[in-house]
Amino acid sequence: MIDFEIPADLAELRDRTAAFIREQIIPLENGAPRDHHGPTEEFRLHLVGLARDAGLLVPHVSKEFGGLGLSHVGKALIFEESGYSMLGPVAMHIAAPDEGNMHLLEVVANADQKERFLRPVTSGQHRSMFMMTEPDGGAGSDPSMMKTRADEQADGSYRINGLKWLITSALGATVSIIMARTFDRNGTDVGATMFLTESDAPGIEIAEVLGTMDHNAVGGHAVIKLNDVHLPAESVLGEVGAGFRYAQVRLGPARLTHCMRWLGAARRCHDIAVDYARTRHAFGKPIGEHEGIGFQIADNLTDMQTSRLLIQHCAWVLDSGSQAREESSMAKLYVSEATSRVVDRCVQILGGRGITDRTVVRQVYEDIRAFRIYDGPSEVHRMAIARRALR
Ligand SMILES: Cc1cc2nc3c(=O)[nH]c(=O)nc-3n(C[C@H](O)[C@H](O)[C@H](O)COP(=O)(O)OP(=O)(O)OC[C@H]3O[C@@H](n4cnc5c(N)ncnc54)[C@H](O)[C@@H]3O)c2cc1C
Repeated sequence: MIDFEIPADLAELRDRTAAFIREQIIPLENGAPRDHHGPTEEFRLHLVGLARDAGLLVPHVSKEFGGLGLSHVGKALIFEESGYSMLGPVAMHIAAPDEGNMHLLEVVANADQKERFLRPVTSGQHRSMFMMTEPDGGAGSDPSMMKTRADEQADGSYRINGLKWLITSALGATVSIIMARTFDRNGTDVGATMFLTESDAPGIEIAEVLGTMDHNAVGGHAVIKLNDVHLPAESVLGEVGAGFRYAQVRLGPARLTHCMRWLGAARRCHDIAVDYARTRHAFGKPIGEHEGIGFQIADNLTDMQTSRLLIQHCAWVLDSGSQAREESSMAKLYVSEATSRVVDRCVQILGGRGITDRTVVRQVYEDIRAFRIYDGPSEVHRMAIARRALR
């Protein structure tokens, strides 16, 4: 049975997070230093400093690595509050891909790798990137099409060659996780492996930072060439050939944390839209009192509450020790589409104002579009849910 009661310590942390976002982060939104991909690195570090002082940096990681060791249910509460400003997850260092990468490293990395790669990221000073997707017919919705290859050498080291793209956080990320189809010394395909390295390893080249429709990714989304990257055997993350299994370790919770953050962003847009609907008059009364707007408000609330319940249920299943594959597919599918609907309605309620930068709604509208594509597009989640049903 699911217990919907929020423990007092989590309720206190949720309220403290909400106050931090409201009082310290939202006032910085206007005129925040940005390049064309997102907040600048200097500004990011300023935000991180604020979250550290507030005791809210990396709350999802264990206390050993400077966090609060939140459960998934705890994350659902705190990440939604953080997402209420698009800068909140950047400040608390719980934005993608770092948040998922930290989780992956906590679960899979060995003690040496944790000290060398995880600790600098959890400090907030460093960022990381996760290289899976490829252009030109390689890994995408179907990761098994991966073309990047790692060839084991006679001394046990690996040489990695390939091309990745859409890699978030690339500019300035110091830690890299690379997925590659792996061949042993006999040339036998032994499956995909994750490799962990510093991003300045010879052969890792940022070929291009893509122009994209979102504006909140520190370091942008890049095309990365892997030109004979030579890594020692100690660079293997976990076991050789277990890369796709570890991708699930990362993606199960990472899909859900996207849902949590975007629910917060959708709620912010909704609050702005309701405020407008209450005060803006047309045809003799506030627009919110016209049924056409009132129904949109009701649909927003229903979409958000349904999303919240799905997230909480999936978080509870993850906390029970399951990988929650079906639940996380359903949550990612439903919440990405429901929060997109909410934000779209908010633009409509705001009229012309909705497409201006007088409110954050425009930015959220543009940024949330990609949520239906990354970490499994909606179609692939539908396919996975249907396949299980037909089994
Ligand atoms: C903002 C953003 C950030 C990202 N960051 C990263 C990152 O940091 N690291 C990384 O490795 N990747 C990243 N990605 C890549 C992302 O994970 C991929 O875009 C996603 O997996 C889809 O792959 P694709 O783009 O190659 O689409 P494709 O595989 O080319 O799919 C094209 C379309 O076909 C549909 N389709 C595929 N299979 C089916 C099917 N069976 N039935 C019906 N329709 C289907 C898809 O749903 C999609 O609509 C990012 C993407 C975005 C947009």
